[in-house]
Amino acid sequence: MKSFNTQYENEKELKEFVELNNIFDYENILVQVFTGIVDEKHSLKISSFLQKLLPHSHILGVTTSGEINGHEMREKTTLISISVFEKTKVRSKLYKLDESFKVDDIKKDLIRDDTKALIIFSDGLKSDAENLLKDISSIKPDMLIAGGRAGDVLNFKKTYVFDSQEHSEEACIIASLSSDELIANSDYLLNWVPVGKDMIVTKAKGNILYEIDNTPIREIYIKYLGSDVSEDTIGQYLDFPFIIEKDGVFVARSLAGVVDEGLTFSGNFEEGDMLRFSIGNMEAITSETAKHFRGYEQIPAQSIFIYSCIARKVLLGDKLEDEMNMLNSLAPSVGFFTYGEYFHSDKIVELLNVTTTFLALSETPQIKERKLKHIEKQDCDIAKKVLTHLVLVTTEELENISSHDPLTKAHNRAAYLNTIGLKLKSAKRYKESFGIMLIDIDHFKLVNDNYGHTVGDDILKKLAVVLKNNMREDDFVARWGGEEFVVIANYMDAKNLEKLAIKLQKIISETSFAPVPKLTVSFGLSTYIEGDSEESLFRRVDNAMYAAKKNGRNTYIFG
Ligand code: GH3
Ligand code: MG
Ligand code: MG
Repeated sequence: MKSFNTQYENEKELKEFVELNNIFDYENILVQVFTGIVDEKHSLKISSFLQKLLPHSHILGVTTSGEINGHEMREKTTLISISVFEKTKVRSKLYKLDESFKVDDIKKDLIRDDTKALIIFSDGLKSDAENLLKDISSIKPDMLIAGGRAGDVLNFKKTYVFDSQEHSEEACIIASLSSDELIANSDYLLNWVPVGKDMIVTKAKGNILYEIDNTPIREIYIKYLGSDVSEDTIGQYLDFPFIIEKDGVFVARSLAGVVDEGLTFSGNFEEGDMLRFSIGNMEAITSETAKHFRGYEQIPAQSIFIYSCIARKVLLGDKLEDEMNMLNSLAPSVGFFTYGEYFHSDKIVELLNVTTTFLALSETPQIKERKLKHIEKQDCDIAKKVLTHLVLVTTEELENISSHDPLTKAHNRAAYLNTIGLKLKSAKRYKESFGIMLIDIDHFKLVNDNYGHTVGDDILKKLAVVLKNNMREDDFVARWGGEEFVVIANYMDAKNLEKLAIKLQKIISETSFAPVPKLTVSFGLSTYIEGDSEESLFRRVDNAMYAAKKNGRNTYIFG
């Protein structure tokens, strides 16, 4: 395959471009038209002219918030990308997203056993892109999905998709690429990180947020971002999307509009979702990206299509050229700035925001000799960079304070409750086993009485270190309170949990807790049983611990 990309000037120049590059009316041509000129007459004129030039081509047109041609980023231009495939069947169709729309039609029209990838463009303001993506991805879960929601240069008024016949403000246009030979890879970059406290969505409908933490959403914006949002100021808030963590993946949701009592976002929420504000990590954006892209030097790519979020461009400005430059050094790249990115790989199915996503395609497994070109554009806005650094370091410190016990530096009870909540969810879903230990120092009151509280404090600190150092890296130790610690031991059955208790008992007996001559602890043990709640699990270890005390201390009981 090969892609030919050019900025549209007029019909004459376009015709010359096609002729000069010897692009004939092959069977399988995908034409992507990215236009920042939001004028349907203009769009249809270009696409119908293209269709006349290349009658067999499949035209996918979309309005944008900016165009990407190689390393160059433009605004309010029309960019045409013509990809000629030799071994891949291209199919395409525009679907109006009204009551008549059926996902099954997409399956019938576009998807075959050998379909490797879909490119979806949809309007950027009206349709429910998130559910559309979920429905389409379920048709063939091993198929990559890329693409984006249409933009309108941050006006948030009118977006549409088009082919050579028609345009629609509530529709999607999809191309499928089918071939046994086609090698398709996709990926995304975010590097936006959560800051501030966790908040809970208390009122939401689809992509409209009304309340967070039982507080009207606009009051939340006034409190944290300093002022109310109006239709004219949305652009200023794009850099600070919400981040939801879904199965360990950070998904950003950026602001997209204002409705009476709520705010609309480029993606949906559910009541009960936990979210936080986020900011771009300017340092990671360059250094991590280069590291990440190096992996692509060994991956075949003849063309790269980029679908990148306008919110990313608002923050990074010209600096985003770094990313475009790197991708373009791997293969000729082309794309547009979106109001949300369609993404489906083996990692996730999500409507993303604030990311750069890309689809790398090749019809041959041969890897062209190439080296990632990484020339970092100097950051002119030092204040922005410094402020970001300050916020991120402070956030990390505050997170540490709120989740750790100040005396022992072990996790605190709140962190334990958070972790056990997540652990119970994943154990249920993946049928994992794990163990819990409650550890209580024997006769600790006597330590305080005989040696004073300061010695007591030092012993608590030391025991926390002993426990942490003798556990696996991913096990979890928290101070439950007083002289009691709780441990979550991953992938443990009852037998191994007992072994761990015996090991700890031995290590504690061999450790010097001077001036106290001998320190012992009692253990309550239990493992996860299907259907457990945090309370039922804790009740068992607590009772077991009580039994261990009754049994003479310095022992363990399994509950
Ligand atoms: P048992 O073997 O039944 O557990 O006896 P115990 O004396 O350890 O248990 P008890 O619950 O009677 O006493 C716990 C003691 O732990 C009492 C309290 O002063 C002490 N303690 C709790 N938190 C701290 C702390 O932060 N520092 C110090 N020095 N002591 C603490
Ligand atoms: Mg106690
Ligand atoms: Mg005790």
